[in-house]
Amino acid sequence: MTKPVSVTVYISLGSNLEQPEQHVLTAVEEIADIPCTQLTGVSKIYRSAPVGPGDQEDYINAVAEVGTTLEPLALLDALQAIELKHGRERKVRWGARTLDLDLLLYGETTIDSERLTVPHREMHWRNFVLFPLADINPDLILPTGQKLQKLLLEVGNEGLSIGTTDDRFCTGKAI
Ligand code: ATP
Ligand code: CA
Ligand code: CA
Repeated sequence: MTKPVSVTVYISLGSNLEQPEQHVLTAVEEIADIPCTQLTGVSKIYRSAPVGPGDQEDYINAVAEVGTTLEPLALLDALQAIELKHGRERKVRWGARTLDLDLLLYGETTIDSERLTVPHREMHWRNFVLFPLADINPDLILPTGQKLQKLLLEVGNEGLSIGTTDDRFCTGKAI
């Protein structure tokens, strides 16, 4: 039997409730523990102004890169199980949350199904996703043919800052 091919996947992490930085740091470790999956990179940690409804706290954001042989929906299941472990509740769309894990890119694959749209529908205009992504893979070209560097110029860095000086979260593939 042939060995399944490992696909490079990018996952965004976000939290703005109950010590958000801790939720994000723990979630990185839990992503590393997903079966058939290796953590290959983590961005710096960012802080971003909330875009959702109401009077919310700032978000802590990061992106993780993994290599996985899991199918996209199996990976989504694993990510949602981690969200639930962190007490994630879905009350209001874009409302405050302990942990949000979005599947940004699954190799070059494009998916448009009921449970999963990849590339993530909103990633092209979210600076809190694009800047951390560029920490790990600055030369990335999206499956749509868009260059990450060009998108970064378009979105700008308004509302975004580096959220930690913790050197476990310096740039690149060091893990
Ligand atoms: P947004 O998608 O705008 O970032 P959100 O993250 O707040 O919003 P959720 O409530 O976390 O939205 O997710 C709603 C549903 O979106 C999930 O149940 C999941 O099935 C679906 N979904 C579709 N595409 C993706 C994706 N690429 N990553 C994660 N979930 C996705
Ligand atoms: Ca999201
Ligand atoms: Ca989500």
